[in-house]
Amino acid sequence: MKTLSTPDEARQFTRALRANGKRVGLVPTMGALHAGHLSLVDQSQRHCDATIATIFVNPTQFAATEDLSCYPRTLEQDYEMLAAAGVAAVFVPQNEAMYPPGFSTYVEPPEVARTLEGNCRPEHFRGVTTVVMKLFHAVPADCAFFGKKDYQQWKVIQAMSRDLDVGIDVIACEIIREPDGLALSSRNRYLDPSERHRALRLSAALKDVEQAIAAGERDAATLQDRMRQTLVSGDGVHQIDYAVIVNADTLVPLANLDRPAVALIAARVGQTRLIDNKELCVDLGSPSSR
Ligand code: AMP
Repeated sequence: MKTLSTPDEARQFTRALRANGKRVGLVPTMGALHAGHLSLVDQSQRHCDATIATIFVNPTQFAATEDLSCYPRTLEQDYEMLAAAGVAAVFVPQNEAMYPPGFSTYVEPPEVARTLEGNCRPEHFRGVTTVVMKLFHAVPADCAFFGKKDYQQWKVIQAMSRDLDVGIDVIACEIIREPDGLALSSRNRYLDPSERHRALRLSAALKDVEQAIAAGERDAATLQDRMRQTLVSGDGVHQIDYAVIVNADTLVPLANLDRPAVALIAARVGQTRLIDNKELCVDLGSPSSR
């Protein structure tokens, strides 16, 4: 596995692969890798002839009050995992390689970035769109793989890629969970055993909504109330940033589940902010669901 440190090096490596007729997949990450990241690598390996992973903890997507300085870094272990998964190269730039002195150009995020995470973390998506566009230029791949774990991020990158004619297929991969339902996240390392237990409320609340829908409930406000109750019940989650059911594509609030929808949660367990979501399956064809 080759290690690449500068955008120029990464671009040359990618171009050489493509000149040899290889279909290249890009898997952007911030490291501290887990099975969720590896599922993206696995999808890339299936779709493409060569995979390039990136590890970069992007400072421009963290607010001053957030966890940039203590974000988990496990580089040696990450290399081992990526090499074992058979990736062709890993692009691991230093901050100065991505943001040299004088850097001042940012990508304005699309409409879908303005809600939810965009409200809670005002500068976040500008950092994400900027760094992802830079990674797309450094690694001009055929496809790029993103997890639905960061559902809104996927929608933001999908819209940016469409609006700015990026020419890289954005492929979304399903959420990987622990056997008890907790969505894998690098930030789960911050949780102590009691917080880890309380964190299960997020996936439980999403499952609850799914069950209510299966039982025939279609009113979004009722479903949201139920989701919040499950989140806070018992020794639950105390600070909910949002727990909503919205249009799966635009993330605009819905009154009824009469179109594809997604339930999205952001909540704090102790000091750790966690997000989770579930796409909601409603049989739009059956008269009882209208
Ligand atoms: P991160 O390192 O947290 O920036 O994540 C890098 C990529 O991995 C993003 O596209 C995430 O959505 C994806 N990812 C993180 N956790 C999971 C998970 N549990 N299941 C699937 N994809 C994930």
